[in-house]
Amino acid sequence: MTSLVASYPAGSAAFPHRGLVGIAGLAPHEILFLLDEAEQWVKLNRLPQKHDNRLAGLTIINAFFENSTRTLLSFEIAGKRLGADVVNMQTAQSSIKKGETLIDTAMTLNAMHADAIVIRHGSSGAVQLIADKVSCPVLNAGDGQHEHPTQALLDALTIRHAKKDFNGLKVTICGDILHSRVARSNVLCLTSLGAEVRLCAPPALMPAEIEQMKVTPFLDFDAALEDADVVMMLRLQMERMQGQFIPSPREYHHLYGLTPERLAKAKPDALVMHPGPMNRGVEIDSNVADMADRSLITRQVEMGVAIRMACLDVLTRKVRGAEGWT
Ligand code: ASP
Repeated sequence: MTSLVASYPAGSAAFPHRGLVGIAGLAPHEILFLLDEAEQWVKLNRLPQKHDNRLAGLTIINAFFENSTRTLLSFEIAGKRLGADVVNMQTAQSSIKKGETLIDTAMTLNAMHADAIVIRHGSSGAVQLIADKVSCPVLNAGDGQHEHPTQALLDALTIRHAKKDFNGLKVTICGDILHSRVARSNVLCLTSLGAEVRLCAPPALMPAEIEQMKVTPFLDFDAALEDADVVMMLRLQMERMQGQFIPSPREYHHLYGLTPERLAKAKPDALVMHPGPMNRGVEIDSNVADMADRSLITRQVEMGVAIRMACLDVLTRKVRGAEGWT
Protein backbone atom coordinates (compact mmCIF):
# COMPACT_ATOMS: atom_id res chain seq x y z
CA MET A 1 0.00 0.00 0.00
CA THR A 2 1.21 3.48 -0.77
CA SER A 3 1.23 6.05 1.95
CA LEU A 4 -1.47 8.74 2.07
CA VAL A 5 0.44 11.72 3.41
CA ALA A 6 -1.58 14.48 5.03
CA SER A 7 -0.86 17.57 2.97
CA TYR A 8 -3.26 20.10 4.42
CA PRO A 9 -2.63 23.83 4.41
CA ALA A 10 -0.95 25.31 7.47
CA GLY A 11 -2.78 27.09 10.29
CA SER A 12 -6.45 28.02 10.23
CA ALA A 13 -6.90 27.10 6.59
CA ALA A 14 -6.60 23.43 7.57
CA PHE A 15 -10.22 23.36 8.79
CA PRO A 16 -12.15 26.43 7.61
CA HIS A 17 -15.63 25.10 8.49
CA ARG A 18 -17.86 26.69 11.11
CA GLY A 19 -19.34 23.42 12.35
CA LEU A 20 -19.47 19.72 11.58
CA VAL A 21 -22.81 18.74 10.08
CA GLY A 22 -21.51 15.96 7.86
CA ILE A 23 -18.55 14.37 6.14
CA ALA A 24 -20.07 15.59 2.86
CA GLY A 25 -18.30 18.80 1.98
CA LEU A 26 -15.05 17.91 3.78
CA ALA A 27 -11.91 17.60 1.67
CA PRO A 28 -9.65 14.58 2.32
CA HIS A 29 -7.02 16.86 3.88
CA GLU A 30 -9.63 18.26 6.29
CA ILE A 31 -10.56 14.75 7.41
CA LEU A 32 -6.87 13.91 7.88
CA PHE A 33 -6.37 17.13 9.83
CA LEU A 34 -9.05 16.08 12.34
CA LEU A 35 -7.56 12.57 12.61
CA ASP A 36 -4.10 14.05 13.20
CA GLU A 37 -5.47 16.48 15.82
CA ALA A 38 -7.05 13.52 17.63
CA GLU A 39 -3.72 11.71 18.10
CA GLN A 40 -2.65 13.98 20.98
CA TRP A 41 -5.95 13.18 22.74
CA VAL A 42 -5.50 9.43 22.25
CA LYS A 43 -2.22 9.82 24.14
CA LEU A 44 -3.64 12.08 26.86
CA ASN A 45 -6.62 9.77 27.43
CA ARG A 46 -4.24 6.89 28.18
CA LEU A 47 -2.56 8.82 31.02
CA PRO A 48 -3.80 8.76 34.61
CA GLN A 49 -4.14 12.59 34.54
CA LYS A 50 -6.43 13.25 31.56
CA HIS A 51 -6.93 16.97 31.75
CA ASP A 52 -6.28 19.88 29.44
CA ASN A 53 -7.79 23.22 30.23
CA ARG A 54 -8.03 24.80 26.82
CA LEU A 55 -11.85 25.03 26.78
CA ALA A 56 -12.05 26.46 30.34
CA GLY A 57 -14.86 29.01 30.58
CA LEU A 58 -16.69 27.71 27.50
CA THR A 59 -20.17 26.19 27.66
CA ILE A 60 -21.04 23.18 25.54
CA ILE A 61 -24.65 22.03 25.30
CA ASN A 62 -25.38 18.42 24.33
CA ALA A 63 -28.94 18.43 22.99
CA PHE A 64 -29.90 14.83 22.28
CA PHE A 65 -33.45 14.34 21.00
CA GLU A 66 -32.81 10.61 20.44
CA ASN A 67 -31.39 7.92 22.72
CA SER A 68 -27.65 7.51 22.95
CA THR A 69 -25.11 5.82 25.21
CA ARG A 70 -21.66 6.02 23.59
CA THR A 71 -22.05 9.26 21.66
CA LEU A 72 -23.58 11.33 24.46
CA LEU A 73 -21.18 10.01 27.08
CA SER A 74 -18.13 10.50 24.91
CA PHE A 75 -19.09 14.07 23.94
CA GLU A 76 -19.61 14.80 27.64
CA ILE A 77 -16.26 13.25 28.61
CA ALA A 78 -14.53 15.02 25.69
CA GLY A 79 -15.81 18.45 26.73
CA LYS A 80 -14.97 17.88 30.40
CA ARG A 81 -11.46 16.61 29.68
CA LEU A 82 -10.84 19.85 27.77
CA GLY A 83 -12.07 21.89 30.75
CA ALA A 84 -15.43 23.12 29.36
CA ASP A 85 -18.69 23.42 31.28
CA VAL A 86 -20.82 20.69 29.70
CA VAL A 87 -24.60 20.68 30.01
CA ASN A 88 -26.77 17.82 28.80
CA MET A 89 -30.25 18.92 27.78
CA GLN A 90 -32.80 16.36 28.94
CA THR A 91 -35.21 16.23 26.03
CA ALA A 92 -37.65 14.01 27.93
CA GLN A 93 -38.10 16.86 30.42
CA SER A 94 -37.76 19.72 27.94
CA SER A 95 -40.41 21.88 26.32
CA ILE A 96 -40.11 19.79 23.14
CA LYS A 97 -42.69 17.56 24.78
CA LYS A 98 -44.92 20.62 25.12
CA GLY A 99 -44.77 21.21 21.36
CA GLU A 100 -41.96 23.76 21.11
CA THR A 101 -40.63 23.91 17.56
CA LEU A 102 -37.07 22.97 16.75
CA ILE A 103 -36.36 26.55 15.67
CA ASP A 104 -37.63 27.92 19.02
CA THR A 105 -35.45 25.41 20.85
CA ALA A 106 -32.47 26.51 18.73
CA MET A 107 -33.14 30.18 19.50
CA THR A 108 -33.35 29.36 23.22
CA LEU A 109 -30.02 27.53 23.20
CA ASN A 110 -28.51 30.43 21.26
CA ALA A 111 -29.74 32.98 23.79
CA MET A 112 -27.87 31.08 26.51
CA HIS A 113 -24.59 31.88 24.73
CA ALA A 114 -23.44 28.31 24.24
CA ASP A 115 -19.99 28.14 22.67
CA ALA A 116 -20.76 24.86 20.89
CA ILE A 117 -23.92 22.79 20.54
CA VAL A 118 -23.87 19.05 19.92
CA ILE A 119 -27.14 17.74 18.49
CA ARG A 120 -28.66 14.34 17.87
CA HIS A 121 -32.07 14.32 16.24
CA GLY A 122 -34.35 11.72 14.67
CA SER A 123 -34.97 13.77 11.51
CA SER A 124 -32.48 13.99 8.66
CA GLY A 125 -31.62 17.65 8.14
CA ALA A 126 -32.63 18.82 11.65
CA VAL A 127 -29.02 19.55 12.63
CA GLN A 128 -28.44 21.78 9.59
CA LEU A 129 -31.68 23.60 10.39
CA ILE A 130 -30.38 24.43 13.88
CA ALA A 131 -26.87 25.23 12.62
CA ASP A 132 -28.40 27.86 10.32
CA LYS A 133 -30.14 29.56 13.27
CA VAL A 134 -27.46 29.71 15.96
CA SER A 135 -24.27 31.72 16.16
CA CYS A 136 -21.95 29.07 17.61
CA PRO A 137 -20.45 25.91 16.02
CA VAL A 138 -22.88 22.98 15.77
CA LEU A 139 -21.70 19.37 15.76
CA ASN A 140 -23.92 16.64 14.36
CA ALA A 141 -24.14 13.65 16.70
CA GLY A 142 -26.44 11.81 14.26
CA ASP A 143 -29.47 13.13 12.35
CA GLY A 144 -32.03 10.59 11.18
CA GLN A 145 -30.73 8.50 8.30
CA HIS A 146 -28.49 11.31 7.06
CA GLU A 147 -25.04 11.55 8.71
CA HIS A 148 -23.09 10.74 11.87
CA PRO A 149 -19.77 12.43 11.07
CA THR A 150 -17.93 11.87 14.36
CA GLN A 151 -18.70 8.13 14.11
CA ALA A 152 -17.07 8.00 10.66
CA LEU A 153 -14.07 9.97 11.91
CA LEU A 154 -13.59 7.70 14.93
CA ASP A 155 -13.92 4.67 12.66
CA ALA A 156 -11.28 6.10 10.31
CA LEU A 157 -8.96 6.79 13.26
CA THR A 158 -9.47 3.23 14.53
CA ILE A 159 -8.69 1.81 11.08
CA ARG A 160 -5.63 4.04 10.69
CA HIS A 161 -4.23 2.82 14.02
CA ALA A 162 -4.69 -0.81 12.97
CA LYS A 163 -3.91 -0.74 9.23
CA LYS A 164 -1.78 2.44 8.87
CA ASP A 165 -3.10 3.39 5.43
CA PHE A 166 -6.43 3.66 3.61
CA ASN A 167 -5.32 3.39 0.00
CA GLY A 168 -6.76 0.25 -1.57
CA LEU A 169 -8.00 -1.03 1.80
CA LYS A 170 -11.08 -3.23 1.27
CA VAL A 171 -13.82 -2.36 3.76
CA THR A 172 -17.05 -4.38 3.79
CA ILE A 173 -20.00 -2.70 5.52
CA CYS A 174 -22.89 -5.09 6.10
CA GLY A 175 -26.34 -4.67 7.60
CA ASP A 176 -29.19 -2.20 7.52
CA ILE A 177 -27.56 0.22 5.09
CA LEU A 178 -30.89 1.84 4.17
CA HIS A 179 -31.50 3.34 7.62
CA SER A 180 -27.89 3.86 8.61
CA ARG A 181 -26.36 7.31 9.00
CA VAL A 182 -23.19 5.48 10.10
CA ALA A 183 -22.96 3.76 6.70
CA ARG A 184 -23.53 7.03 4.83
CA SER A 185 -20.86 8.95 6.73
CA ASN A 186 -18.42 6.04 6.55
CA VAL A 187 -18.85 5.66 2.79
CA LEU A 188 -18.10 9.36 2.29
CA CYS A 189 -15.15 9.31 4.68
CA LEU A 190 -13.49 6.05 3.64
CA THR A 191 -13.87 6.53 -0.12
CA SER A 192 -12.51 10.05 0.21
CA LEU A 193 -9.43 8.61 1.96
CA GLY A 194 -8.86 6.06 -0.81
CA ALA A 195 -10.44 2.90 0.60
CA GLU A 196 -12.52 0.50 -1.52
CA VAL A 197 -15.94 0.20 0.12
CA ARG A 198 -18.37 -2.68 -0.39
CA LEU A 199 -21.92 -2.39 0.91
CA CYS A 200 -23.82 -5.57 1.65
CA ALA A 201 -27.50 -5.83 2.60
CA PRO A 202 -30.67 -7.71 1.68
CA PRO A 203 -32.45 -5.97 -1.24
CA ALA A 204 -35.01 -4.33 1.07
CA LEU A 205 -32.27 -2.70 3.15
CA MET A 206 -30.14 -1.42 0.26
CA PRO A 207 -30.70 2.29 -0.50
CA ALA A 208 -31.99 3.25 -3.96
CA GLU A 209 -29.20 5.83 -4.35
CA ILE A 210 -26.52 3.11 -4.15
CA GLU A 211 -25.64 3.76 -7.82
CA GLN A 212 -24.53 7.30 -7.00
CA MET A 213 -22.25 6.15 -4.16
CA LYS A 214 -18.67 5.23 -5.00
CA VAL A 215 -19.14 1.69 -3.64
CA THR A 216 -19.70 -1.87 -4.84
CA PRO A 217 -23.07 -3.31 -3.74
CA PHE A 218 -23.43 -6.98 -2.71
CA LEU A 219 -26.47 -9.05 -1.79
CA ASP A 220 -24.31 -12.10 -1.01
CA PHE A 221 -22.38 -11.62 2.24
CA ASP A 222 -19.85 -14.38 1.47
CA ALA A 223 -18.91 -12.67 -1.81
CA ALA A 224 -18.68 -9.28 -0.08
CA LEU A 225 -16.27 -10.72 2.48
CA GLU A 226 -13.78 -12.16 0.02
CA ASP A 227 -10.38 -10.53 0.54
CA ALA A 228 -11.79 -7.89 2.93
CA ASP A 229 -9.38 -6.10 5.31
CA VAL A 230 -12.10 -4.67 7.55
CA VAL A 231 -15.64 -5.90 8.20
CA MET A 232 -18.02 -3.35 9.67
CA MET A 233 -21.32 -4.72 10.94
CA LEU A 234 -24.46 -2.62 11.42
CA ARG A 235 -27.51 -3.10 13.60
CA LEU A 236 -31.01 -3.60 12.17
CA GLN A 237 -32.54 -0.20 13.00
CA MET A 238 -35.98 -1.52 13.93
CA GLU A 239 -37.01 1.88 15.31
CA ARG A 240 -36.77 3.36 11.80
CA MET A 241 -38.58 0.49 10.05
CA GLN A 242 -42.21 0.85 9.15
CA GLY A 243 -43.35 -2.52 7.88
CA GLN A 244 -41.56 -5.80 7.31
CA PHE A 245 -38.02 -5.43 5.96
CA ILE A 246 -36.65 -8.86 6.91
CA PRO A 247 -38.39 -12.25 7.20
CA SER A 248 -37.15 -12.80 10.80
CA PRO A 249 -34.03 -12.05 12.89
CA ARG A 250 -33.16 -15.76 12.68
CA GLU A 251 -33.30 -15.80 8.88
CA TYR A 252 -31.37 -12.52 8.77
CA HIS A 253 -28.64 -14.00 10.98
CA HIS A 254 -28.44 -17.02 8.70
CA LEU A 255 -27.75 -14.86 5.62
CA TYR A 256 -26.08 -11.75 7.04
CA GLY A 257 -24.83 -12.57 10.55
CA LEU A 258 -21.06 -12.46 11.11
CA THR A 259 -20.00 -15.85 12.47
CA PRO A 260 -16.42 -17.15 12.87
CA GLU A 261 -16.96 -19.32 9.74
CA ARG A 262 -18.01 -16.29 7.72
CA LEU A 263 -15.15 -14.16 9.01
CA ALA A 264 -12.78 -16.87 7.70
CA LYS A 265 -13.79 -15.83 4.15
CA ALA A 266 -12.17 -12.41 4.65
CA LYS A 267 -8.37 -11.87 4.83
CA PRO A 268 -6.75 -13.89 7.65
CA ASP A 269 -5.98 -10.65 9.51
CA ALA A 270 -9.31 -8.94 8.73
CA LEU A 271 -10.58 -6.76 11.56
CA VAL A 272 -14.14 -6.50 12.86
CA MET A 273 -15.93 -3.27 13.71
CA HIS A 274 -19.39 -2.27 14.96
CA PRO A 275 -20.60 1.21 15.94
CA GLY A 276 -22.85 -0.18 18.68
CA PRO A 277 -25.28 -0.88 20.10
CA MET A 278 -24.82 -4.53 19.04
CA ASN A 279 -27.56 -7.09 18.75
CA ARG A 280 -25.51 -10.17 19.57
CA GLY A 281 -26.74 -13.26 17.78
CA VAL A 282 -28.45 -11.19 15.06
CA GLU A 283 -25.88 -9.24 12.98
CA ILE A 284 -22.86 -10.48 14.94
CA ASP A 285 -22.01 -13.52 17.04
CA SER A 286 -20.55 -13.00 20.50
CA ASN A 287 -17.52 -15.12 19.69
CA VAL A 288 -16.67 -12.70 16.84
CA ALA A 289 -17.51 -9.49 18.71
CA ASP A 290 -15.28 -10.54 21.60
CA MET A 291 -12.29 -11.85 19.57
CA ALA A 292 -9.35 -10.20 21.34
CA ASP A 293 -7.07 -10.12 18.29
CA ARG A 294 -9.62 -9.25 15.60
CA SER A 295 -12.37 -7.12 17.13
CA LEU A 296 -11.85 -3.34 17.28
CA ILE A 297 -15.21 -2.62 18.88
CA THR A 298 -13.94 -1.31 22.23
CA ARG A 299 -11.08 0.49 20.44
CA GLN A 300 -13.74 2.39 18.45
CA VAL A 301 -15.24 3.63 21.72
CA GLU A 302 -11.79 4.75 22.90
CA MET A 303 -11.14 6.62 19.65
CA GLY A 304 -14.57 8.25 19.91
CA VAL A 305 -13.53 10.33 22.91
CA ALA A 306 -10.31 11.48 21.20
CA ILE A 307 -12.09 12.43 17.96
CA ARG A 308 -14.76 14.39 19.82
CA MET A 309 -12.06 16.23 21.77
CA ALA A 310 -10.36 17.12 18.48
CA CYS A 311 -13.62 18.37 16.93
CA LEU A 312 -14.55 20.47 19.98
CA ASP A 313 -11.03 21.93 20.17
CA VAL A 314 -10.76 22.76 16.46
CA LEU A 315 -14.28 24.22 16.17
CA THR A 316 -13.96 26.50 19.20
CA ARG A 317 -10.60 28.00 18.21
CA LYS A 318 -12.15 31.19 16.89
CA VAL A 319 -14.19 31.81 20.03
CA ARG A 320 -11.07 31.22 22.15
CA GLY A 321 -9.11 33.72 20.11
CA ALA A 322 -6.81 30.87 19.16
CA GLU A 323 -6.06 30.00 15.57
CA GLY A 324 -9.29 31.07 13.82
CA TRP A 325 -11.30 30.50 10.70
CA THR A 326 -10.08 32.02 7.50
N1 ASP B 1 -25.06 4.39 17.37
C1 ASP B 1 -25.21 4.49 15.95
C2 ASP B 1 -26.14 5.62 15.57
O1 ASP B 1 -26.49 6.42 16.40
C3 ASP B 1 -25.57 3.21 15.31
C4 ASP B 1 -26.86 2.58 15.77
O2 ASP B 1 -27.64 3.17 16.51
O3 ASP B 1 -27.11 1.47 15.32
O4 ASP B 1 -26.51 5.74 14.42
